[in-house]
Amino acid sequence: MVRLTDSWQEILRRRASNTEHGAYPAPVQSLLGEITAAAALMQSNIKFDGALVLQIFGDGPVKLAVTEVQSDLSLRSTATVLGEVAENTPLSHLVNASNQGRCAITLDPKTKFPGQQPYQGVVPLFDDNGQPLERISEVLEHYMLQSEQLDTTLVLAANGHVAAGLLIQRLPLEGEGNLAGSMVSRDNEDQIGLNEHYNRIAILAKSLKVDELLRLDVETVLRRLYWEESLTRFEPLVGEAAPRFQCNCSRERVGKMIVSLGQDEAASILAERNDIEVGCEFCGVQYRFDPVDAAQLFTDAVQLQQGHPGTH
Ligand SMILES: [Zn+2]
Repeated sequence: MVRLTDSWQEILRRRASNTEHGAYPAPVQSLLGEITAAAALMQSNIKFDGALVLQIFGDGPVKLAVTEVQSDLSLRSTATVLGEVAENTPLSHLVNASNQGRCAITLDPKTKFPGQQPYQGVVPLFDDNGQPLERISEVLEHYMLQSEQLDTTLVLAANGHVAAGLLIQRLPLEGEGNLAGSMVSRDNEDQIGLNEHYNRIAILAKSLKVDELLRLDVETVLRRLYWEESLTRFEPLVGEAAPRFQCNCSRERVGKMIVSLGQDEAASILAERNDIEVGCEFCGVQYRFDPVDAAQLFTDAVQLQQGHPGTH
């Protein structure tokens, strides 16, 4: 289970103080909070050193919703919204207006061997019958089954204070520790979805109401759902080990981005205004490059290409 409070509120506060965009409309806030909670759960569930990036590429007013969670559970999230979003806009209208929306999960390792591409899996935002899905949890369950062959049950919820999630996953049968290990033959194991223990636990998880997930602490939720099961409770992650907001943008990276636009493009921006200004969509920090800074970027880039790193 994950229950993000400070980190989630920090993300919302930074967005609200962005004078260009302003606060997220409520349905976007829910969507972004839910994928943030889900990504934190997924990242903490895999042994992997790098960033887990969960993206929704929308074809409605939400063009992009993205959350990035590092192995140490530092995270950041943002959404790009174009146009008005009414109070009760359903998910499909938000991101899947013409059934073209996509959900992508990328695992980007911290250290890559030469030529290594990040691993990415993509699923549509509709079910096997082509019907638009109205819950992000269903999209992600679908993803886990399709790309990881893992039976997954997710309950997600978010409001202006909390982004929370409960993830139930049926682990592969190897290992003595699994609930079904001694009960089921390997043949049965291959038939995903036929495991009575998993199904019982998943059905109980799904009985959790959005309001309960948002309001109740982890202890209470687990007791309410699984009072008949024997539970092994791990120590909760607190302090520095807990999920927390952190943006890894930097002036250097923004500089590289400007260089990648090319000198002509940079010059044309500078012709219109006094400096090139780039705001980080995740944390709201504004980076400004005046004509002298911009010229230096390109000089440095040329020197770097020629193998003479500049001193700046
Ligand atoms: Zn940033």
